[in-house]
Amino acid sequence: MKNNVLIAGAGPAGLEASAALQRLGYNVILIERSETIGGHLARWDRLFPDGESASAALDSLIEGIWGVKCFTDTEITSANRLGKSFNVILSNGIIVHADAVLMTTGFDLFEASKKEEYGYGIYDHVITNADLEAFFRNGSDPRINNPSRIGFVHCVGSRDEKAGCRSCSKVCCATAVKQACEMRQAFPNSQVYCFYMDLRLFGRHYEDMYLSAQRDYGVRFIRGRVAEVSENLDGSLMIKAEDTVASAPLKVSLDLLVLMAGMRPSVSGARIGSLLGLQSEDDGYFRVMDGILDAQRSTVPGLFLAGAATGPKTLPETLADARAAAVEIDKYLSVTFPEAKDFKQLMRKGW
Ligand code: SF4
Repeated sequence: MKNNVLIAGAGPAGLEASAALQRLGYNVILIERSETIGGHLARWDRLFPDGESASAALDSLIEGIWGVKCFTDTEITSANRLGKSFNVILSNGIIVHADAVLMTTGFDLFEASKKEEYGYGIYDHVITNADLEAFFRNGSDPRINNPSRIGFVHCVGSRDEKAGCRSCSKVCCATAVKQACEMRQAFPNSQVYCFYMDLRLFGRHYEDMYLSAQRDYGVRFIRGRVAEVSENLDGSLMIKAEDTVASAPLKVSLDLLVLMAGMRPSVSGARIGSLLGLQSEDDGYFRVMDGILDAQRSTVPGLFLAGAATGPKTLPETLADARAAAVEIDKYLSVTFPEAKDFKQLMRKGW
């Protein structure tokens, strides 16, 4: 074994980087603040654009970390620089002498209840993209009762200065198109509407998915922002929107409204980042050394970043970023610790 690498966050980026660094011969310590690993992927049902099973993808990532020391329900409580390394105390009492730290703390989903005008948490039949994935996984949700008219609202908490996020979350247009098709499959007699500002479908096969949504599933795309949602006496929803193509106000009655909550910087990631002295940009995501040429290195030597800790990413981008971070860490450790000391015995407690 060579140096110790501590990875904070066992979502897809943390799992992929752990596997890569272990293959490179490093002693990897992976920590996760929740009780389970997998991050948002563990709560998702199917992935765009091909409908691949999220749990199959996660199982494959988990297989890769066989042998990695992984601690769930564990956070960093303090961290200090110790020469070229870091002395990190974990909430489970273990002290790690880490020669490099990789932050894969991911993202939080925007709290849809903050957009009060959409009625999440107020009206029974307003749910989020995450709620809908849980429904697809579990097969039931009392709020989803054979709906015949379903609406999706794009850009909830994204591209919205008032919500504190002016940037695009990158994945929610594709998620909305995927989920719209899935709802038509689940409820073949339903009508499905997507209310969007712009459709940002940039990846390979995404355009096919969008064309198929219209051609094969009859999903109707309406360019316009939803201004207000209210509840009718019978429990259905009334949506007021502006159709910006027709330049006309629009009222639509729906049985179910799905809010495409966007990505926000992770609150717990920010807390760990401040313990480690990481800098963030004004959008809340961590600053990298160079967004084009050096996107996995932070401004602090020995601290690296991967996945959505540095901004919204698709799953393939996240995994590629994690592998790139592993290469950068290998490069850094080879130069910083040419003797490749074995720190195995230094900072263990109870291993
Ligand atoms: S991906 Fe689409 S829904 Fe998501 S923030 Fe960007 S434009 Fe809005």
